[in-house]
Amino acid sequence: MIKRVLVANRGEIAIRIMRACRELGLTSIAVYSEADKDALFAKYAEEAYYIGPAPATESYLNIKKIIEVSKECKADAIHPGYGFLAENPSFAYACEKEGIKFIGPSSRVLELMGNKVAARKEMKKAGVPVVPGTDECVTDFGLAREIAIHIGYPVICKPAGGGGGIGMAIVNSEGELREALESSRSIAHSTFGLPDVYIEKYISHPRHIEFQILADSHGNVIHLGERECSIQRRHQKLIEESPSPVLTPQLRAEMGAAAIKAARWVSYEGAGTMEFLYSDGKYYFLEANTRVQVEHPVTEMVTGIDIVKEQIRIASGLPLGTRQDEVRANGWAIECRINAEDPLNNFAPSPGKLRGYRSPGGIGIRVDSGVHTRYTIPPIYDPMISKLIAWGRDRHEAIARMRRALYEYVILGVKTNIPFHKAVMENPQFVAGDLSTHFIDSVPTLVEDMKGIIEREKPLEEKLSQIFDEKKKIAAIAAAAVLSQMSRPKT
Ligand code: ADP
Repeated sequence: MIKRVLVANRGEIAIRIMRACRELGLTSIAVYSEADKDALFAKYAEEAYYIGPAPATESYLNIKKIIEVSKECKADAIHPGYGFLAENPSFAYACEKEGIKFIGPSSRVLELMGNKVAARKEMKKAGVPVVPGTDECVTDFGLAREIAIHIGYPVICKPAGGGGGIGMAIVNSEGELREALESSRSIAHSTFGLPDVYIEKYISHPRHIEFQILADSHGNVIHLGERECSIQRRHQKLIEESPSPVLTPQLRAEMGAAAIKAARWVSYEGAGTMEFLYSDGKYYFLEANTRVQVEHPVTEMVTGIDIVKEQIRIASGLPLGTRQDEVRANGWAIECRINAEDPLNNFAPSPGKLRGYRSPGGIGIRVDSGVHTRYTIPPIYDPMISKLIAWGRDRHEAIARMRRALYEYVILGVKTNIPFHKAVMENPQFVAGDLSTHFIDSVPTLVEDMKGIIEREKPLEEKLSQIFDEKKKIAAIAAAAVLSQMSRPKT
């Protein structure tokens, strides 16, 4: 049985995992870098160990060191969270070799699904529809040209070992192909250490719809419905929701069955996500994510199933706690990723010290964060402050609640993308559920709306700043008073 879980991650996801451990009565062990000495997650854990300097390669990506600490502190399992080593087959293999349970699929599955070309091939064999494209990596321009003509422009060049939307290049016509192929290969090489690139049909204005699956070691595989993650910037998700406004029950059942088929085909074990692009009633497998996703809370809010606990149960060899026919989606949940970014400066990271922090609450609101008042967001890692999740009985209520919560949220000292989220939540196209991965570009008024919101709230922000600068006790009372007068969202 798993008793001691080392969390090989930081920030909000480390706390999220430790919360599950605490509920299960397990001991959680944090590992932290120099930059995270004072971070909340290192304090939340029952035990915490320093693993090295701030650069991730010397701490959160240092396999040798993490394994060493795990052995020393007698951890019997490692939860990798997302990012860092979560999808690294060598790390999973090192855990397997040392007899430490890696909370996730086997190194074999990570290896297979981590290479998008290999994963596409397997999915085709399994009978899951994939985006039309190549089955092999493409190095040669002549071959790329033939393939692109065969698929039909526009096409997209994508790194086989990629992630985070990095290195993808859209090609509208033959004239752009050579440069796109070269740039994609060079970015793939420098970022992922693998120059392999493949070519797919570029689906114009698709929706990103993914299915959460859970698979145990007894052959049970279920899905927990879908999440729509079409609101993206630079191919990176910003707002996610469950369910998707576009899926019919029939299509949901069909895509859910395809996701289960995909998981079964590779003997998947653990929690995972099958990502699809959806366009005009058709869906295409995009890639598999072999870990807990950033956006997992929206699924938890509608199904009531704790995905991290399920991961730990599965890793302990227990059967799934829920049968497919027991999975019920109740209401609607939306998540906004709250980042320390400057929305008026092309969303450039805005790390620094929080001078004031007050997170929203009330019915249907969940905030997964790793920060606290006076916390300094280090410039070296991802600038996410928190994930704000709103649940409602229907989409309308979830949106209204999200708006209300965004207006309650006080973050002073750094710039955040909250004005962006407010503008989206008030946008009629979003409210109508008319989404695509091009949503942000297709709403030209969004930037102006956002500027208007920032302008409108300037006096309030100044007032709050003054208050938070005063002594803490007075600040708490005064902040509450100001909050009660806050500019209200349009309803
Ligand atoms: P990554 O692993 O780098 O995040 P994905 O394959 O998951 O890359 O794609 C991320 C996003 O990029 C998708 O959600 C979608 O917006 C866009 N994208 C990827 N492939 C295509 C495609 N073939 N057609 C249209 N958009 C695509």
